[in-house]
Amino acid sequence: MLQITQLDAVTQYKMARTVLGRDLYHVAAYFVDGLLIDTGFAYLAEKFYQELKNKHVKRIVNTHHHEDHVGANYLFEQRQGLKAFAHSLARPLIEKPPEKLKLYRDVVWGVPQPAHPEAIGATISTAKHSFGVLHLPGHSHDHIGLYEPQQGWLFSGDLFLSVKVRVLRLDEDVYALMDSLRRVINLPLARLFCGSGKVLDNPGAMLKQKLAFYEELEQRIELLHQKGWEAEKIRDAVLGKEGVWPWMSQGEFSKLNLVKAILKRKA
Ligand SMILES: [Zn+2]
Repeated sequence: MLQITQLDAVTQYKMARTVLGRDLYHVAAYFVDGLLIDTGFAYLAEKFYQELKNKHVKRIVNTHHHEDHVGANYLFEQRQGLKAFAHSLARPLIEKPPEKLKLYRDVVWGVPQPAHPEAIGATISTAKHSFGVLHLPGHSHDHIGLYEPQQGWLFSGDLFLSVKVRVLRLDEDVYALMDSLRRVINLPLARLFCGSGKVLDNPGAMLKQKLAFYEELEQRIELLHQKGWEAEKIRDAVLGKEGVWPWMSQGEFSKLNLVKAILKRKA
């Protein structure tokens, strides 16, 4: 599915692979004043490109290198000579995508074709808007957000997801994520545009709740760790037993990852 929604000056392209009549996970790209933020995933790349090809895309930014945010980069590059901008840490990863993905990622998104982004500077401008580029690592080390202070917009990639995310991806850095949340929490934000397709008005309170969730978790985990509890026992007490995530993601996402990541700095 590819669903197009107009949100004032911003167009949202929300996408998911549909299997047996059911949409798998959603991801969203945004288009505003000639600027395209993220390009979806491999399975829908051609469809997405066809939708955008006559819309006068002037610039493309990838919030990070993950396969669900860079899928159609190569089509804009090959057919319009348009290279995306991304954090310098993202460039080698987009140039050389993994040969193989974990099974669930292969089913949901697919391996993207290589593309050749350029390093983004401190700002990126369109005719009507100027966006500050914020380095917001945690979800991935190369993750950025685009902040438009006049409108109070933040295009936040996968920074937010939801308030209480009880699992962590193996390569996520929970402390960097907390610092990134601290960085945006006091910005005067009117609207948050998430890579998942969520759009939150006046998102300050939700961002604060997300940070508070991690801070509280950190305290509780620390306390039990001091009592000598093992990570698995702490997980069961604080986050509950694992659900389907570790099985579905072949261990890439789990509650235990979150506990261990929090303990890493405490060790
Ligand atoms: Zn991501």
